[in-house]
Amino acid sequence: MATEQVSTGSKLATTLDAHGISRRTFLEYCAGIAAMIGLSEAAAPQVAQALDDVIGKTEGKLKPVIWMEGASCSGCSESFVQTANPDVATCVLELLSVNYNELINAAAGHSLEQSRKDTIAAGGYILVYEGAVVKGWEGNALRVGGEKGVDSLLETAYDADAVIALGSCACDGGWQAARPNPANAEGVQKFLKDNGVSTPVINIPCCPANPQWFTAVVVEYLLMGRLPKLNSKNEPELMFSETIHDNCPRRGHFENGEFVYTFGSEEEKKGYCLYALGCKGPQTFTNCPTVKWNRRVSWCIDSGAPCQGCGVIEPMKPTRNWVDENTPLMARHRYFQIGDWKTSPAGWAGVITGVVVAALVVHAFGMKVTKRTDGGADFETVRVYDVKKHNAKAEEYGAEADKLLDELDAAGLEERKIKGDKK
Ligand code: SF4
Ligand code: SF4
Repeated sequence: MATEQVSTGSKLATTLDAHGISRRTFLEYCAGIAAMIGLSEAAAPQVAQALDDVIGKTEGKLKPVIWMEGASCSGCSESFVQTANPDVATCVLELLSVNYNELINAAAGHSLEQSRKDTIAAGGYILVYEGAVVKGWEGNALRVGGEKGVDSLLETAYDADAVIALGSCACDGGWQAARPNPANAEGVQKFLKDNGVSTPVINIPCCPANPQWFTAVVVEYLLMGRLPKLNSKNEPELMFSETIHDNCPRRGHFENGEFVYTFGSEEEKKGYCLYALGCKGPQTFTNCPTVKWNRRVSWCIDSGAPCQGCGVIEPMKPTRNWVDENTPLMARHRYFQIGDWKTSPAGWAGVITGVVVAALVVHAFGMKVTKRTDGGADFETVRVYDVKKHNAKAEEYGAEADKLLDELDAAGLEERKIKGDKK
């Protein structure tokens, strides 16, 4: 038996045993889920028990899941399935009632489409959408069973209990929405809102999404009967409220100004901070440093790669997807954006330089036109201001001052003469 919290012979215990998952690994996983749904990690045994009760025994009472593919590389599915090295998330997923998934379902064609329609008719299901929504070509991309991809999404989302937008592409268009975005791609939340569908959307970003985030959302929904508390970007707040930078094991080096400037250097061997190589950890709000990847073995920065900020999303602004925002990935600068117009610091520097050069050219032409470059223009004998604002009193004082200066000059001349006589 895999754990003491899972009943011998239950479906969950059998699945865990079949995948060689130990009691320790399972409890660690449950502790992670507990933390991500707002419980103490000490609640891990209760989560394990609940998983067994709800998923292992109560077959037929699970919320059915419809898992649709938008424009995606299927990386988020692969992240879950992890065929080479399945973990607890895979086991939990295997036990969910996934009625429709274009990637892993054995059924195909019209029978699979019928399964989606039957699930919609029965109600009470969760829709998982992976990949971007493609609005281009009048929505004719991603046609399945003769139906436009966008129509299938609207039909399925309308009656769902909740929509989980899985991965950055589903959240705001991701790679698919990167400039120039010929597919007119965007995320699920914006598409549904623009089409009047008010089903709650939970955004789980990253490229791909971490299976543990998805599992935590599903477990919270199944075990506690509630959707997670969301932040302003509709992400589960407890998972996406702190920056990677705040929890990074290299943070001490950042504070000490110890950076890696080139790969293969001594600084890299010492594990210094990757900020100079374009690390986007300071602007990326995910718990990657604590949840990690691949059975919690490692994650990007532990592996020596700067964070590329794939967890940065703007669900209602597809032109600000993480690809446009963070490329070139190994460079520090970010883009500035005004409306749809976007430029880099280098672009701004070019504009400012251009304005200064243009001003100098105009000034030079002005000098030429006024003939100041041809021996100079006539100097004003009397200032225009003085003519316009004639002031008799000032003139009087001016005359007195001139007289005084003349006297001083004369005295100085006399003194120089005397000195000259003495010589
Ligand atoms: S490696 Fe990145 S996330 Fe870590 S301390 Fe440096 S800048 Fe921050
Ligand atoms: S560490 Fe950064 S690049 Fe890596 S998965 Fe997390 S957000 Fe994406």
